[in-house]
Amino acid sequence: MQEAVQQRVILQLAVPVPLRRLFDYLPPEGLSPQALAPGQRLWVPFAGRKLVAVLVAIVGESPLAELKPALEQIDSTVLFDAHSRRFLAWIADYYQAPVGEVYAAAMPAALRKGKPAHHWAEQWLQLTTEGKGLPQTALARAPKQQALLQKLLRDGRLSRAHLKAQGHSMAAGRGLQERGLVEWVAGPTVPPPLPGADASLAPALNSEQQQVLDVMDCSRFSASLLEGVTGSGKTEIYLRLIERVLAAGRQALLLVPEIGLTPQTLRRIAARFPDHSIAALHSGLAEGERAQSWLAAAAGQADIVIGTRSAIMTPLPRLGVVIVDEEHDASFKQQDGVRYSARDLAVVLGRNTNVPVLLGSATPALETLHNALTGRYRHLHLYQRAGNAHPPQIHVVPTLREPLEAGFSPQVLRHIGDVLARGEQALVFINRRGFAPALTCDDCGWIADCAHCSSKLTLHRRQGQLRCHHCDHRRPLVNSCPQCHSHSIAALGGGTERSEELLLQRFASYPVIRIDRDTTGSKQALDKLLAPARDGQPCLLLGTQMLAKGHHLPRVTLVVIQDADGGLFSADFRAPERTGQLLAQVAGRAGRGSLHGRVLVQSRYPEHPLLQRLLDKGYGDFARQLLEDRIAAQLPPVRAMALVRAECEEPAWAEAFLQSARRYMQSLAPPSPQLLYLGPVPALLERKSGRFRFYVQVVAQQRAQLQPLLARVSTWAEGNKNRRLRWAVDMDAQDLS
Ligand code: ADP
Ligand code: ZN
Ligand code: ZN
Repeated sequence: MQEAVQQRVILQLAVPVPLRRLFDYLPPEGLSPQALAPGQRLWVPFAGRKLVAVLVAIVGESPLAELKPALEQIDSTVLFDAHSRRFLAWIADYYQAPVGEVYAAAMPAALRKGKPAHHWAEQWLQLTTEGKGLPQTALARAPKQQALLQKLLRDGRLSRAHLKAQGHSMAAGRGLQERGLVEWVAGPTVPPPLPGADASLAPALNSEQQQVLDVMDCSRFSASLLEGVTGSGKTEIYLRLIERVLAAGRQALLLVPEIGLTPQTLRRIAARFPDHSIAALHSGLAEGERAQSWLAAAAGQADIVIGTRSAIMTPLPRLGVVIVDEEHDASFKQQDGVRYSARDLAVVLGRNTNVPVLLGSATPALETLHNALTGRYRHLHLYQRAGNAHPPQIHVVPTLREPLEAGFSPQVLRHIGDVLARGEQALVFINRRGFAPALTCDDCGWIADCAHCSSKLTLHRRQGQLRCHHCDHRRPLVNSCPQCHSHSIAALGGGTERSEELLLQRFASYPVIRIDRDTTGSKQALDKLLAPARDGQPCLLLGTQMLAKGHHLPRVTLVVIQDADGGLFSADFRAPERTGQLLAQVAGRAGRGSLHGRVLVQSRYPEHPLLQRLLDKGYGDFARQLLEDRIAAQLPPVRAMALVRAECEEPAWAEAFLQSARRYMQSLAPPSPQLLYLGPVPALLERKSGRFRFYVQVVAQQRAQLQPLLARVSTWAEGNKNRRLRWAVDMDAQDLS
């Protein structure tokens, strides 16, 4: 009996269900337990379904007498190494997230669905031992084969895509193969560098850049903020750090905002490191491609991993540096499911694996700035634009009582005309896509509302539709008022489509390029749309914040911000910070080359103190002032804040649930000056997709006070929730909407 107990093998599995614990199973029938190791996937039966789970631990005991066997082993290799498992467990714990959901979020869709984890998508041509022994001058009688041989002798190997991009023929490859000099092997996918450009040369660093690199020690953990104005050469710093860790035989992880991962970004890096394998991880990839990249990263085969937020959860066995570009960007925070911040996790990952972490931005988040100013992070600066670019001049254009045309003042239109006539480019930033943010009846005041959200429908004239930007509800455009049948219905306010219409008329002889989510289905589409701008011909770019990020367009000399007022009066305490970041980023698109740049900011409130400060003193000073305000108001980042959220079709249920949650938390930790409770209050967008949304806000002096409280209330909620209600804990919440 004693012996039988000792021989029990129990698998603790992370199962993708909304419960914050592991589940015990027996090994699959007929499988030797020796074949199992933590970090592999298995199929398991769960409540009548078959799910993909990850083996987290193998133990000898379970409190449960009756255990089911797992169904089948999926991987014979380990996908999640011990480091990675420890990191994912930390995430589940800190964010009060079900551990099975954390593992699911860490995997690409194909692996989440149980697809096998071995095939490589790309074929690589490499020299055989015999080929490696040849001199550069061999094969003089077959020049094409010789050229390819020389390339391979220099670079080691070439992917099929690189072969094509660099103008080598497949026939030359076959010729070498027939001679036994090369062989094809399967490997990870890597974007080919720019056609024509073999490898881009690194510019000589300026002294500021050199100073930054001198203090970065790549041999151990450190967290640094690189605060550098737009165009100051932060990317160059990233590239040099990557170069260092590659030379040490390690992997580099570069996180970029959702809309920052363009083919242009990838090519810039691929061109610098033509001999290294790069894995891209973002939502624009086909499912198979993404799984390939992920597996290449997790197997340690990809040298450089570039990805959007979820890439932070990819296992990286040889990690050497973590870089977060545009660290202030809101897309690093996951807003549903596992509500993590990839930027914050970057620092945790760096500490766990003892590698340096660099957070870069021209407009740092107040959280990061606070950490830098209090000495928790090292604070590095780039004050000057790199190369010979100058900072742009900024002017405010008052718009109150001005005769605006589709949102533009006559003066601004004149400036746009001048810039185009000089053969340069102008960029117009507009906050809203669509034609107009509302449709209204002039006779009775009716406004087209979304039937499912507390918001208005946006007019998309080209598609003849009214669309909700919160739930994507769509309705055909009406031409009479549904309430009073009047035909006097009018578009209220402006959007990208409306401005485009005017600019197309006014500047008919120039290309007008509209960039927003409606015109750029894919990253490739964005890249293609921007081609004329990159070519340097005079053109007019207009668009939403997709234009604010990352694009380096040296011939843009005028930036117009059509309406700076949007965030000045919001109820969200983070709105001024976000507005400041956006305006500074957009303004930073001007004059990035050798030409001087000018920024025109339209505002109805040119005297508004926030705007004044931002425009006079720049984002750095503006942000430090906001930080003072936050300190005075006892808000993040000087306090830790979490939300307990609930949403339900029945508003009273969500409210009652949160009332009880608050009472329960208060019974554990009574309110005090160190621990404040607020709510339940309705979210800023009170109704979304038919559900009413509320939250309770908990603000604590110490994170350590918040953690146990949130753990207890989560356990309480798992036991008390109404089936039709959704709840979540949002630790370090970024968004009150
Ligand atoms: P940021 O990431 O800070 O916006 P980038 O790294 O994109 O800035 O640099 C802006 C431009 O300046 C790029 O064209 C880049 O190639 C160039 N650049 C960067 N560092 C230098 C340097 N030391 N000398 C000359 N040009 C540079
Ligand atoms: Zn009407
Ligand atoms: Zn809606």
